[in-house]
Amino acid sequence: MNPYDYVKKEPYKLYVNGEFIIPEKGETFDVVNPVNNEVFAKAYKAGTKEVDFAIKAAREAYDNGPWGKMSAKDRSKLLLKAGKILERRLEEFACIETLECGKLFGSVMYYEGGMCVDAFEYFAGKARCIEGKVVPIDSNTINMVQWYPHGVVGEILPWNGPFMMGCQKICAILAAGNTAIVKPSSWASLSMLLLAEVFDEAGFPKGVVNFLAGSGSVIGNALVESPEVDMVAMTGGTSTGKSIIGASKETVKEIALELGGKSPNIIFDDVNVDDAAKWGRWGFTLNSGQVCVSGTRLIVHRNIYEEFLEKLKAEAEKMVPGDGFDSNTTLSTLIHKDHASTVWDYIQKGKDEGARLICGGVPYSDETLKKGNFVPVTVFADVTTDMSIFQEEIFGPVVCVTPFDTEEEAVAIANSTKYGLAGGVFTKDIKRGLRVAQAVDSGQLYINSYFSKGMIESPGTGWRESGLGVAGIQKYMISKTIFVDTEEGSVPY
Ligand code: NAD
Repeated sequence: MNPYDYVKKEPYKLYVNGEFIIPEKGETFDVVNPVNNEVFAKAYKAGTKEVDFAIKAAREAYDNGPWGKMSAKDRSKLLLKAGKILERRLEEFACIETLECGKLFGSVMYYEGGMCVDAFEYFAGKARCIEGKVVPIDSNTINMVQWYPHGVVGEILPWNGPFMMGCQKICAILAAGNTAIVKPSSWASLSMLLLAEVFDEAGFPKGVVNFLAGSGSVIGNALVESPEVDMVAMTGGTSTGKSIIGASKETVKEIALELGGKSPNIIFDDVNVDDAAKWGRWGFTLNSGQVCVSGTRLIVHRNIYEEFLEKLKAEAEKMVPGDGFDSNTTLSTLIHKDHASTVWDYIQKGKDEGARLICGGVPYSDETLKKGNFVPVTVFADVTTDMSIFQEEIFGPVVCVTPFDTEEEAVAIANSTKYGLAGGVFTKDIKRGLRVAQAVDSGQLYINSYFSKGMIESPGTGWRESGLGVAGIQKYMISKTIFVDTEEGSVPY
């Protein structure tokens, strides 16, 4: 397999109203492999003209086209058909995602790719199980609660898992009965532009799913400001989420935001320290730390603190940086040189703020690695809650370690940032594990492991500044309550 065989020679086109289009201005942008920072493809860049075109197409498909009136069963069948097509082409998608995002090929092919196909199957089933309820009020009133699609949904994606997140979100949007305009990040657009081919081949009616690559401030903003778009969902940084909240105020449209995190991972002193160090390392180095729920604050009981640090250092130093197609690689590159530079700035801040550097923190000297955006696994100990490296999301393979003495102190340290996305607790005492999981202010907690094992069935809600709205199909739906008076001759006086 040569992954470059899957790369198109001509620029990747946008997909609007059931057609692959070249934008009016004909502008393109470079697609770069972060392993060596070489341009390996080009993609067309949408402007406001193409955004308007996509909004009209999605509007028409929802309001007057077949989609708005299609039965859940038929929508479900189309999703299943698309899922089969994707499964057939999975290797191609995994190669493109690895080339563009620097991920580990095996992880995309066998984990994320599997989750992508599963999203089509799961939401195809879900489309046929959307139930409302009848609420008992009194004997003369029937009170029905029904769920409706919002209509046209703009879905704005981040760069750290565009293929998996894109599939999960688009399938939920369509299963709920909405039409979609999808905007991937300009650092990671190809998997979504390619996914357009899957929807096209499956025979989705024109305008139901539209894909626009290009600038967040141009396309994203136009989607948020348009009164013709009923809902905008965005996964990305908290500051982008805040600007979307601001820009949506004129239309008061429905918004859903899945934002940043700085998740705590609490290690009590009754654990097997070898295992805990392995889990601790895993929790912040998966995808080189470019995972929203990464456990980037290790809060460790003082009784095992130094022993844990020593073992964590050993685990960190085992990581092998390299190309995601090399099966020996365990540490992938960061997505972009600008992002790597932000991560290096944080590493410098950690040193300046007086945290104790345990390992990493110095650029690789290897000539091949220097071509990419690699950052070694970096562990800072004795990090205090007032340090910026403790408070701010770094989004790289960098962890802060802080000691604690009591359970109450551990929870207080865990809850002392503006974020509330995820968290972990390691202890042999299950009562304590549950108590702490309940006390940490986050939407997702793991006890004695880190990361969910495919969480499509459960919501991953961002508490505090980590988000707005609940994930899953209900996120893309709105309720309506209908009251029916069954009493004969009941009229107001
Ligand atoms: P980002 O905020 O820079 O960009 C996200 C998307 O928003 C991109 O497509 C971008 O083009 C677009 N955008 C930028 N400006 C916009 C604007 N003014 N209006 C509308 N859209 C705009 O985020 P990123 O750097 O791509 O992704 C990393 C971030 O995503 C991290 O903070 C991470 O924690 C977060 N994330 C959260 C979750 C979650 O489930 N909570 C999942 C994955 C990633």
